[in-house]
Amino acid sequence: MTVPAGDVIAVPSELLKLGDLAFIDVETTGGRPLEDRTTEIAILRFAADGRVERWQSLLNPGVPIPAEIQALTGITNAMVRDAPSFFDVREDVRRLLEGAVFVAHNARFDYGFIKNEFRRQREPFTADVLCTVRLSRALYPAASGHGLDALISRHQLTGFNRHRAMGDTEATAAFVAAAAADRGAATVYAAARRLLRTPSLPPHLPEATLADIPDSPGVYLFYGVNDLPIYIGKAKHLRERIRGHFSSDHMTPNDIRLSQEMRRIEWQPTAGEFSALLLEAQLIKERMPLHNIALRRREKLGFFRLLDETATPPLAWVSAAAVQGASDDLFGPFSDKASAKKWLMYAAREHRLCDHALGFSKPRSVGEPCFARQVGRCFGVCEGVETPGKHRERLRAALTDHALPPWPFSGEVVYEERDPANDRCDLLRFDQWCALAGGARLPFDADVYRLLRRTIDRSPKRFRLIEHAESAAH
Ligand SMILES: [Zn+2]
Repeated sequence: MTVPAGDVIAVPSELLKLGDLAFIDVETTGGRPLEDRTTEIAILRFAADGRVERWQSLLNPGVPIPAEIQALTGITNAMVRDAPSFFDVREDVRRLLEGAVFVAHNARFDYGFIKNEFRRQREPFTADVLCTVRLSRALYPAASGHGLDALISRHQLTGFNRHRAMGDTEATAAFVAAAAADRGAATVYAAARRLLRTPSLPPHLPEATLADIPDSPGVYLFYGVNDLPIYIGKAKHLRERIRGHFSSDHMTPNDIRLSQEMRRIEWQPTAGEFSALLLEAQLIKERMPLHNIALRRREKLGFFRLLDETATPPLAWVSAAAVQGASDDLFGPFSDKASAKKWLMYAAREHRLCDHALGFSKPRSVGEPCFARQVGRCFGVCEGVETPGKHRERLRAALTDHALPPWPFSGEVVYEERDPANDRCDLLRFDQWCALAGGARLPFDADVYRLLRRTIDRSPKRFRLIEHAESAAH
């Protein structure tokens, strides 16, 4: 197989005004940077002084390579068995990438893997990233494909050992050289500079999108190919937050999926954080976006309800959606039932409550002491030493820090959120720690609750009771 040497590829010096260019490609055991591992790295670094460095290594990923990946890359388990681990080569990799622009085809992928390999060594890694998919898109917007195979055939780049790290690295560098020959080095340089300044957007979004987004509080909706949003989020600073989803630094598997599916962004500025939070909750409820983690998290949210004296166990789990209003027998919110129970077990130990009475265990015979009693940690309601009423009061005391306080107003209130910078004002309505939208109460939301408590503590006078005249107006 013909593999041209790196120094045969001529990257014009004009482009090296961007800095040293480190072209890189990684082969991996799969597509998820957080879970999958790197099996091969190749780096081709062009320095401003004309030096070219080539480096490549197979890596032992420490996990088996799936058969279909072995077939795709030609890198087999046998080939990596005696290869160094990332730990062994990390100094070389760092030296070759340090101070250079990280250039790769679909760079988000390679950057994610390198960053995570360093993270497993508890070492930070960051770089300015230039993606050649985006560079191709910027230079040849009318072209139909920007995958490496498409570029190779469009620019007649031949002789590369495809799907192995050095072959793909060389093909990527050869594309940049070919584009510079075709469009002029100055044009390629200008496009690359623009891309380095604008953070990476999902591949299918037009480049101008980010510039249009205001830097105000608000809510944003990501759309895929159809008219249903795939994600809804809120932000104090819309542009910055949306950027955050796609900066390679914070790439979660969810962000990667979003980025690939995304075709369109919509946003709605609000007067502040509060309005953004409420609008988000309302839109999520109405539109049920596919990838909303916040939504799934909210569905698990709930409270303990302290039941009357006759009930055993004395606490019931109530999901937040079922909570009708504040009452003095609700304790929480807890993020989910399992963590609530865990908290209760700690509290029980600290307050010397009874395992049997809390339902953690069942007595096998009447009056059998619970385990806590046997180790001297229960006051003995199980043995009839303490009265059930007394035990229940101690349980209430143990829960007291989590008590949902009574709603401090005599009814529904309105809160005016203003953003003088954007001359915007939103009227927000609340009742019983919940937001109201379109006359209906939205389900209890932990974020709304926390923000409400904080805001009421700080400036209670900004909340006004709703009067009839006002509810008629908009
Ligand atoms: Zn007991």
